[in-house]
Amino acid sequence: MIDDPGTPTRARDPLRVVIAGGGVAALEALVALQGLAPGRIDVVLLSATDTFIYRPLLVGEPFGLGHPHRYDLANLCAGLGAELVLDTVTQVVPEAHAIQTASGTDIIYDVLLVAIGARPYPAFDNGVTFERQLSPEDFDDVLGDLTDGMAPRVAIVVPDGVSWSLPAYELALLTAAWAERAHPEATCVTLVTHEPAPLADFGPKVSAQIAELLEREHVVVRCGVHPDVVTPTALRVGGTWLEADRIVSLPLLAGPRLPGLPMDAQGLIPCDGLGHVDGVPDVYVAGDSGTFPIKQGGLAAQQAVAAVTDIAARTGADVEARATEPVLRAVLMTRTGPRYLRAELADVDGTSTFATEALWWPPSKIASRWLGPHLARLDVDRLHGATTADIDRGMA
Ligand SMILES: Cc1cc2nc3c(=O)[nH]c(=O)nc-3n(C[C@H](O)[C@H](O)[C@H](O)COP(=O)(O)OP(=O)(O)OC[C@H]3O[C@@H](n4cnc5c(N)ncnc54)[C@H](O)[C@@H]3O)c2cc1C
Repeated sequence: MIDDPGTPTRARDPLRVVIAGGGVAALEALVALQGLAPGRIDVVLLSATDTFIYRPLLVGEPFGLGHPHRYDLANLCAGLGAELVLDTVTQVVPEAHAIQTASGTDIIYDVLLVAIGARPYPAFDNGVTFERQLSPEDFDDVLGDLTDGMAPRVAIVVPDGVSWSLPAYELALLTAAWAERAHPEATCVTLVTHEPAPLADFGPKVSAQIAELLEREHVVVRCGVHPDVVTPTALRVGGTWLEADRIVSLPLLAGPRLPGLPMDAQGLIPCDGLGHVDGVPDVYVAGDSGTFPIKQGGLAAQQAVAAVTDIAARTGADVEARATEPVLRAVLMTRTGPRYLRAELADVDGTSTFATEALWWPPSKIASRWLGPHLARLDVDRLHGATTADIDRGMA
């Protein structure tokens, strides 16, 4: 339902919640709202894209480890009783409880959840930026040149400012395994990162295990270094140059700079632990759009749950709103199978865990309370041609 811009704001029953975005945080919020406050909320999902792409699986794609799963948002919304609007939010008008969109429409909300992610951009002028969705061929060429023996030394870089470094570790490990098959003697993969220790956000136990793993897999790791210049064949690190035939960097992320909402210098939206946007009533933010320093899908989902629990509580649903107590969870793909990493950010040293068995269920790369199980059920549907209702009946 799209309102006339002149429609006055009023409290509605059911509450009208507009979720802007179609990624992890938006979909976690969508599924959670239907679970926490069924019948009490009308949900509109406003997304710039019609498909949800499971991005963590983009890393394995160039190595032939399958393609990321794609989910049709129209089907997802239909199954959850939500209205889908394919459009782009261009501005929030808090005093009118309205958002404006690229198509020129105004959409009224009682509550707005902004979950429009962040914008990747290259950290350096030279080398390859690992951006599978925009230019997949760039990294394919690196692997091709490695296979042909033209570029045996590859550096994978986590530039200053990149907070979620796991894809670089997977790239380094998978590239080393790939290179070993092609040219066992001649190749050298180096991981260059600003982190003080490998995957330092996960704490000391994980760092120690990852360091061992990298050594075993013949990946050279250089931690605590801050390359500031990258040429096509070298990185400047402090006063010295590290040479490589191909340099692959993770992208930096910029905030969405959404007019009408406060933002920090990077364009990210500031909020409290429940996702309330600073100084803007009835507007929440979750995921990479917010100022939380680590940009990760599992954390995006946790932030979405904190926000929608608060929203559900406003409708009288029997839930208690609680600020996020962030837990980092990750699955690291290696050639000898997945490794599961976990740490609670309030006590990283005491909770740092590394395991070869799953530490959560379903053991998906983006660990989430609501979306992960929902997608797992859709995957089962797809595999067996059954309906979700059939599966519900089977699980009851
Ligand atoms: C290669 C790679 C590997 C990763 N691996 C992992 C991993 O293993 N584990 C993990 O937890 N995380 C991982 N991440 C990070 C994770 O994907 C992100 O942190 C997460 O997707 C952020 O969720 P989000 O909802 O904030 O934003 P996004 O998922 O980016 O979603 C933003 C959505 O908003 C839509 N949108 C954008 N602008 C507008 C607008 N103006 N109006 C309407 N809609 C808009 C977009 O189309 C998109 O649907 C990885 C990321 C990458 C790129």
